Amino acid sequence: MSHQRCLRYELLGQRGLTLWFTGLSASGKSTICYSLENKLLEERRLCYCLDGDVMRKGINSDLGYTNNDRTENIRRLGEIATILTDMGAITLVAAITPFQKDRSNIKRMHERKRLPFWEVFIDCPLAICEKRDPKSLYAKARNGEIQQFTGIDSPYETPEHPDITLHTANSTIEECVQFLLTKIHCFLSSSNEANYKKTEILSSFIHE
Ligand code: ADP
Repeated sequence: MSHQRCLRYELLGQRGLTLWFTGLSASGKSTICYSLENKLLEERRLCYCLDGDVMRKGINSDLGYTNNDRTENIRRLGEIATILTDMGAITLVAAITPFQKDRSNIKRMHERKRLPFWEVFIDCPLAICEKRDPKSLYAKARNGEIQQFTGIDSPYETPEHPDITLHTANSTIEECVQFLLTKIHCFLSSSNEANYKKTEILSSFIHE
């Protein structure tokens, strides 16, 4: 760890960590992220929620939904996440991140900088996401008002080896948030060396 990173983490009294939430639209990524962010802030821990939808109105406003634009969208979010995590924040990224190669890229980005990264798969069947449809996006995709919508006419590649899987069709928001909070507490209280042995922290923590 660089001297500066060490000093920053000491200053904050915590180490940085990226949790990357991937899943279909309406699976529950942003609901869980914002609720987790509130809990962590109440505990006076520095954290930041990077919401893909919000970022698309700012730094990613020049991007659309072609495969190339989706890849660039995720690359930029990945770069920002590494900066925040290097700074010492618990960084919560909520973005569909439909392609395996993009998820591998952001994971590698973190590994190159020796920053801890957990891929959190928010698993929820398409039919339930479509029923929830909080922003009526599925309805619009079905009637052709919007195109290239993930799950309808653009693919979602199911994560093969996520670090954590949450099944939001079977668990409440509170259960999901509490589950993550426990893992984060475990991470923050583990030794420096254990940061990189995340299997020790996460093993047996796949939430069925
Ligand atoms: P996404 O960010 O993945 O597009 P949202 O968080 O915007 O999804 O929407 C998810 C919807 O599902 C919300 O209306 C939320 O209240 C509901 N929901 C039901 N159960 C859960 C759960 N266990 N976790 C997260 N959201 C849930």
